[in-house]
Formats: sequence, C-alpha cells, structure tokens
Amino acid sequence: MFAEIIVDVPLMQTDRPYTYRIPEEFETMLQVGMRVHVPFGKGDRLIQGIVIGFSESAGIETKDIVEVLDFSPVLHTEQLWLADELRKTVFSYKISLLKAMLPNLLNSSYDKIISQGVGLSDTDRQAIFGTKTSVHFSDLDIKKQARVMRLVQSGKIQVDYLARDKKQIKTEKWYRVFQDKLREVGISNRAKKRQALKEYLLQQDKPARLSTLRQDFSAENIRYFQEQGVMEVWEEEVSRTQAYFEGVKSVSALQLNSEQAIAVREIISEIGQASRTYLLEGVTGSGKTEVYLQVIDHVLKQGKTAIMLVPEISLTPQVTNRFIARFGQKVAILHSGLSDGEKYDEWRKIERGEAQVVVGARSAIFAPLKNIGAIIIDEEHEATYKQDSNPRYHARDVAKLRADYHRAVLVLGSATPSLESRARASKGVYGLLRLTKRANPQAHIPPVEIVDFREYIGQQEASNVTPVLLEKIKEKLVKKEQVVLMLNRRGYSSFVMCRDCGTVDECPNCDISLTLHMDTKTMNCHYCGYQKEIPRLCPNCQSRSIRYYGTGTQKAYDELAELLPEARILRMDVDTTRKKGSHEKILTAFGRGEADILLGTQMIAKGLDFPNVTLVGVLNADTALNLPDFRSSERTFQLLTQVAGRAGRADKAGEVVIQTYNPQHYAIAFAKEQDYEGFYRYEMGVRRSLGYPPYYYTVGLTLSHRSEELVVKKSFEVLKLLKENLTDQIQLLGPTPKPIARTHNLYHYQMIVKYRQEPQLSQVLNRVLDWSQEKENQELRVMIDHEPQNMM
Ligand code: ADP
Ligand code: ZN
Ligand code: ZN
Repeated sequence: MFAEIIVDVPLMQTDRPYTYRIPEEFETMLQVGMRVHVPFGKGDRLIQGIVIGFSESAGIETKDIVEVLDFSPVLHTEQLWLADELRKTVFSYKISLLKAMLPNLLNSSYDKIISQGVGLSDTDRQAIFGTKTSVHFSDLDIKKQARVMRLVQSGKIQVDYLARDKKQIKTEKWYRVFQDKLREVGISNRAKKRQALKEYLLQQDKPARLSTLRQDFSAENIRYFQEQGVMEVWEEEVSRTQAYFEGVKSVSALQLNSEQAIAVREIISEIGQASRTYLLEGVTGSGKTEVYLQVIDHVLKQGKTAIMLVPEISLTPQVTNRFIARFGQKVAILHSGLSDGEKYDEWRKIERGEAQVVVGARSAIFAPLKNIGAIIIDEEHEATYKQDSNPRYHARDVAKLRADYHRAVLVLGSATPSLESRARASKGVYGLLRLTKRANPQAHIPPVEIVDFREYIGQQEASNVTPVLLEKIKEKLVKKEQVVLMLNRRGYSSFVMCRDCGTVDECPNCDISLTLHMDTKTMNCHYCGYQKEIPRLCPNCQSRSIRYYGTGTQKAYDELAELLPEARILRMDVDTTRKKGSHEKILTAFGRGEADILLGTQMIAKGLDFPNVTLVGVLNADTALNLPDFRSSERTFQLLTQVAGRAGRADKAGEVVIQTYNPQHYAIAFAKEQDYEGFYRYEMGVRRSLGYPPYYYTVGLTLSHRSEELVVKKSFEVLKLLKENLTDQIQLLGPTPKPIARTHNLYHYQMIVKYRQEPQLSQVLNRVLDWSQEKENQELRVMIDHEPQNMM
C-alpha cells in the first residue's frame, strides 16, 4: 500500500502529492488527514507531510514513511476539501493552507510522551514501558510505535504533547468533601459561620474550586474542616483560558426589540436546510451582539455548533464575557495571547466536541467544529479578517465555504459594512437586515460636531486640541463624566529630525523613517524590527540640534496633562499595550472610573461600552485620508463612525467632536451625519468611476529582491506572461515601486490586475506561482494577493 502525501518543503513548493510506501506495521491504522515524517530529497532529510489519499501502485524508487505523528487524523474531509476550494483564490501552496488550519504546536516537531491508561495488559506494559511509567514516543522502534498507536486508539495508552512552556503553568486548588465523615463532625451552635460552612459543604458532592469557598468563608474555618479530615484539597493545572470563565455571572437572554426579533427569526429560518448569508447592518449599540447570542442559542438547541469571530483587538474580557455569561463552559476562546500549548488544549476541546461555541479572531474560522449551524463575523468590514502573510485568506471567504458545507447560516455584522458586502446585499446575494436605533431606549446616537483645524492655526495653546474641544472636555470633567480621545495614527509616527540639515533618521534596511519609542528610549523600524539608541548627534552633519517630532500619543498626553492638570489620563497605544494583558488592564481601570480621559490610537475605537463616556473626541481625522489606497475614504468613515459610537451608550447623552483639516471631504461629512447608507451610495459612485472594487476585482502581485534592477526585469517578465495569457479586457497597472519601496533590504515592485470576468486568471496566476519556485527565481519573492486590503 502507498500513501499520497503533501510535503512541507520550504523551497520548491508544489501542490503535487508525493507517493510513499506504507510500512506494514502502519497499514491498518494510517488514515487520511494524519501527519507523517518522510525522507525527502537527495539527503533523505526527514520532513513533515500530510496524508491526503492512498494508492495501490507507485514508481520503482518509492521511499518508506518513517514515522506516523498522529494517532487519529488531525485534518478531516471538510478541511481537505476546504483547502482545495480556497486554493482557487489563495495563491500559496496547499500545504500552507493546511498548516493554517492546525494549531501551531502540530506544525512544529514536538515530541510526544505516552503514559499508561486504563486496561493496559501486563504484556503490553512490559513491552512498551518496562519499569517506567511514561516514555518518549520517539524513543521507540517502529514496531513498538505501531503497537502504541493501536493501544492509543483503544484508550489504553495516553498521549501528551511535550510543548508546555513550564513558566506558563498556573495551578489552582480544588477540594472534595467526604460526606459520611462530614455528617459526623459536631459543631457548637455558637459557631454560626462554621455551621454555615458545614451546611454548604453538605451540598457539595462534586469536586470544586477552593477559591469559590474562599469568597464566602474564612480561611480559618476552611482549615478546620480540612484538619477534621472531611475535605481533601489538591492542586490542578489551570489553562490560561480557564481564567476567562472565572467570576462571570450567568446572564439570560434579553427581550428583543422588534428589529432584533425580525433579524433573529430570519437568520434562523433555514439553518440546516440551506446555507444563507445575511448582512446585519446595525448602528453602534443597536444590539447586534444580542442577536448573535440568540442565534447561537437556537443553534445549540438544535444540537449544532457555532463560530463567533471578532477582530483580535476586540477579544477583550468585556466581549468574551458576554458569550461565557450566556453559554458557560460550552465556549472555547481562541486568542493570539495563548501559548502554543494552550491553543492546542482549546483546539482539542473543540475537536472532542467539549466546546460547541468558538469565540475567536481570524484563524478561529478553521476551528475543528463539526455540525456547524451558524458562523458569525462581527465588524465584518475589518481588514484584520484578511491574513496579510501567506496564506492570504479572507476569513469571510472561508466562512462562506464552511457555511455551504454545513448548510449553516453566515451572519456578517457591522455598523459600517465593507462596500463589497453591502453591494452584495443590494444585489440580493446576501439578505439585508437592519437595526436602525440603539437597543437601549434611553441611549441615542450622539450628535457630531466638526471642527476645522485650519481656523485655529496659531491661536491655540496646544497642537492637538482646539479650544472648542478643550472647553467640552472641561465641562465633562466638572460633571464627573468620562472622555475618550482618539489620535489616528495610521501612516503616521513620531520621528527624529535634525534642525540644521533636515536629516530624518531612516532605517538602513528600509525606505522609511525610524519611529521614536520613548518607553524603551530607542528608534525602531516598524517593518524589519531594526532598533538603535536615540542619536544625540545628527548622523549626517553631527549637529546637536536634534528635534523629536512626537506626533504620537505621548505628545498629546503631555499636552493634555499640562492643560488639564487635575484630569486623570490613561494612555493606550502600542507603547503602553506591548505587555500581555495590559490592553485589558487599561480598559478595566477606565471602566472602573479610575481615569477621566482615555487617550488612545484607533485601538480604542472598537467595542468599548462604558456608560459614563459622554464625549468622544477625534484629534486628527485626516491622516488616513491621504494614503495612496482606494479604501482610504472607506476606512476613515468606518473609523470615525466606530469611535463616535463609543459616546452616549447608556442613559447619559453623548456628543462627538471631530477635528479635521478637511471638513469638506465626503468621508468626514457623512461621518458627521453618521449616514452609512449615504456614504455607501456616494462611495459606490467613486468606485465605479475609478474602476475599483466592488465593480472590479483586483489582484495585487508584489515581487521583491535585493537587487532593484533584477526585480524590475522580473516584474516585466511576469507582466508579459500575464498579457500573453489573459484577455484584453484585463487592466494591468504597474509595475511600480510600492509606496514603501524597500524594506528588509528588499526592493518591492507591485502590479495590480483589475478585471470583471477572467476565467483563465486563476490558472495563469498559479503559473506565476510555479515560475517563482523555479531554481533561477529562488532569490525572488513573489506574493500574489487576491483582493488586497492594503495597497501600501
Ligand atoms: P452592538 O453590538 O450593536 O454595538 P450591543 O449588543 O453591544 O450593540 O448592545 C448595546 C447595549 O444595548 C448593550 O448594553 C446591550 O446589553 C443592550 N441591549 C441589546 N439588546 C437589548 C434589548 N433587546 N433590550 C435592552 N437592552 C438591549
Ligand atoms: Zn544634521
Ligand atoms: Zn527596517
């Protein structure tokens, strides 16, 4: 017997499977979707591969599979199918898609430790373990490995992946009560607390966390029962994700308003019969989340499962708690902050069917759930749903495929849908459901005031805050209400410039100025990670007149602190949130009222729901408008609408001030009215006249190489290949240098393909991909991005 195997070789990739012989020992147990080690190339280097099929025959010089890495398949039929389907629009090899579906741990070579399970016979024990209680799988010979695999499959041997980062292990205490002994413990009637504890313990017939006892009873009283020998206490390892569940009080469903009720009824109507996609367009605070929760509840009642995607930045306890409060331990959280071991644990929990609701960021779309009933993507317009490294998939596309496969419903939710999605809803491809008012009857969409920055040039005390905004902040401070201020930092950073010669300190590897980081006192390149100390002398003229142009939050913070010495200000940006968990800490502190002003970058725009926030100020609305990207108006409008939505979410009325140099720009004007539909129609006109999505599809090709001359030459080769093989309907832009022409010491040239219908395109682009794998092009990097989200 032979196996067809997709191998993972970094250079010279291909989608073509290789054939390997299956050693007799593994013949009966090897299954499609298992990982194996196989020898590859001249040196017979061992590499990882994934079994995708079997065959009866092979060529003469077929090599043997050396090791089988899994005891049961890690990829299922659905996922192999998904990789094939995605391959039509994702231009990287299948292996990279398959790997993206697995937890990291399974993509690296960790050893496995096996230990004895229930029902292991003495002979098996003797043969495999000898006198030991556990052994490393890799220490066994192939015969024994095969024997172990069989025993694992029947539960007689247990496996653990050796990946736990020891530092990260947290333990907690559990207790168990021996009821018979407890009943016999006599307690004086005067010891009321002790009596109460006894009563409580008499109800506990299952092991429970000691911490729950500690909430209501003193350590001394607990110790008393321990000393009486009626309680056993021990320590258990906790996963970090477990911490999410603690202290979350269960919450039941809200009474839906009529718009929400219509949305839920419509969304659940066809689950299991046909796959439908709905666009849930609901203004900020309109109760979209409650709709998601009730849809998921319905799906669970049908015995099905659900995926809930939120942007990584919104995966805060505030958000995850709402799901945990409703569905408790049925929830698995997939979060980039988890260690590889923890992610693997969550993945296993889902795989075994112990969790039925997966809440996570982009890659959670691959969660190994079976029998999916609903997939929900909140803030569907967010660019983070598109992965910006290989494989460049869009979670929305994966979701659509999985929904089709399971006949599940797909819900795309947003206050500011992407133009692509909104256009599909107009054409009837998606069902359109709208929530037009805030769910809390006391809350209203706040009025927005636009302040023209140009009117204040030279007359204000600070460069970040106009007198208008400053007055409003002061008013709120007097009323003890809270303020959120956003500094839009996209395409914007603080830098160092010499006043004498004008030299800006640039990265030696990239065509970009270094960014000043006050916290580490360094200059950093945001592309390649290059770092150096802040210079004291100009690197060009040796002058001492070096000036720091801190346009960032630090400078705004300093200004505010000077203007409003009595205000307590919290700053949230990349500098203050670099440490794990600091993002959450800042938000919790603000939520508790420990600060009056939250000043941050666009990371504060999303999901915050603080009832006491009554003023939102946008310090600089424009920075993103001038970027060379056809989506810059859309992104600006989305950002302003999202951030404005943070004000007046509860009973207190809110207001919004937007400072801008371009008050007449349509993105800003529509944001003032918070008129998404108006913006949508206007922007569609712009896109139509310029020939951009959603009227045209786009593919971006980027070639990179150390030599600029070579990259230009190769770009023209690709251009020729495209021209010769595509119809003359196609529009080819470029090659041109990317807006940031060099990073990591590589020159980047891009081409953009615009088309409406081009049946051969996928095939031709795959030819470009294969061409890039040829020996003479190995130094060249080729990136093909279907519907690029970022033209920079
Ligand atoms: P969105 O996700 O659309 O921004 P949320 O789901 O966060 O909105 O809802 C905003 C607020 O309204 C929340 O505090 C939520 O508890 C409340 N809410 C949602 N639905 C209802 C309802 N049907 N009745 C009362 N309050 C609601
Ligand atoms: Zn100088
Ligand atoms: Zn750099």
